[in-house]
Amino acid sequence: MKKIAILGATGSIGRQALDIIERSPERFCVTALTAHKSSDTLISLAKKFGVKYIGLTGTSGDAEFEKKVPKGVKVGFGIQGLIESCREGDPDVVLIAVVGIAGLPPLIECLDRGTDIALANKEALVCGGHIVKQKQALSRAEIFPVDSELCAVYQCLKGVDTTGLRRVILTASGGPFLRWSKEEIQNATVEQALRHPNWRMGKKITVDCATYMNKGLEIIETKWLFDITPEMIDVVVHRQSIIHSMIEYSDGAVIAQMGPTDMRQPIQYAFGHPERLGSVVGHLDFAALGTLTFEAPDTDKFPCLRHAMDALREGGAIPVIMNAANEAAVELFLEKKISFGDIEKSIAFAMNKFAHLKANTLLDIYNTDTQVKKYVYNNF
Ligand code: NAD
Ligand code: MG
Repeated sequence: MKKIAILGATGSIGRQALDIIERSPERFCVTALTAHKSSDTLISLAKKFGVKYIGLTGTSGDAEFEKKVPKGVKVGFGIQGLIESCREGDPDVVLIAVVGIAGLPPLIECLDRGTDIALANKEALVCGGHIVKQKQALSRAEIFPVDSELCAVYQCLKGVDTTGLRRVILTASGGPFLRWSKEEIQNATVEQALRHPNWRMGKKITVDCATYMNKGLEIIETKWLFDITPEMIDVVVHRQSIIHSMIEYSDGAVIAQMGPTDMRQPIQYAFGHPERLGSVVGHLDFAALGTLTFEAPDTDKFPCLRHAMDALREGGAIPVIMNAANEAAVELFLEKKISFGDIEKSIAFAMNKFAHLKANTLLDIYNTDTQVKKYVYNNF
């Protein structure tokens, strides 16, 4: 029986993870669950899965909440709720599916404890990749990427000789604005940005897909997860999201990982590893798929990808600054306080204005993140 903690249990990835667990009660059980604000959903999930620890990160529970907590269930608040979820009940795997830099502290905690991580959260590696690498070298914990592209690269690279590796090719769906003009994109509404052609996901990542920042975060994750130099990372737009990513060898041979467009496949792979479990997502019917298409990403129309490429090459605090500006700007966009085009503008501005900030230690990273976000909230 594998014991699993789910951080961000009420979200898109969290709920799909619980679906996997529910289908295999003989294989998986849940030790802890966290949510940011949806306390009622968290409590009902805790009852359903017989969980003994819950973390509520976005509010400090009131008397009303305390009354609803089932007997024998411990509760943690804020960041402590995330950290204790990595410890309580001694989980075998912690799924980190919270949004934003909040994913970094539990990732560090798991590495320090030697607990395996199923990592959906992107922002943790983007901001703290260099520290994660150092910790990982001293830890027995494994990181199983749950992002479909990174899980694809993980599967392509597993057990193969990487001496002749030429490049990693991440696929991108192209998002909702692929065929829009540059001018139209600037004024896209929240509703339009949230209409992703292939995936149903949380709001922040869906907006990131529309700006291409999602792919930008993934190229930085790729560097840290697989020790790949920036020159060896490529992006290709693949509208159908059937090829989840590819690797290429020096002799021209390409290995692709394909599968149905359903996040439960990478989640199940991370939970079941090293075993392959029965599919809950069906199987590809190639004849029915017909055509798979490929095109180059347009960084003129989607400059966020270019900013991320710069951040990937420059390293240091630049990825932290880029990520912080993006998190704050996407929040403002979702609140309809800034335009879609302003997201990119605030990122470009912050990457320039705050380039002197540091990211050497975890404390530096959190300070830089706070300072940049504060600026974006107040000035855009
Ligand atoms: P979501 O918005 O649907 O859910 C987020 C979960 O985290 C919720 O349970 C929420 O309560 C909690 N949360 C929100 N803000 C938090 C904070 N500041 N601190 C702690 N908890 C917080 O998001 P999602 O789509 O499930 O994505 C989660 C993470 O996984 C993101 O980093 C995203 O980029 C990554 N990811 C998601 C998908 C997908 O298909 N949804 C695919 C690949 C990667
Ligand atoms: Mg992805």
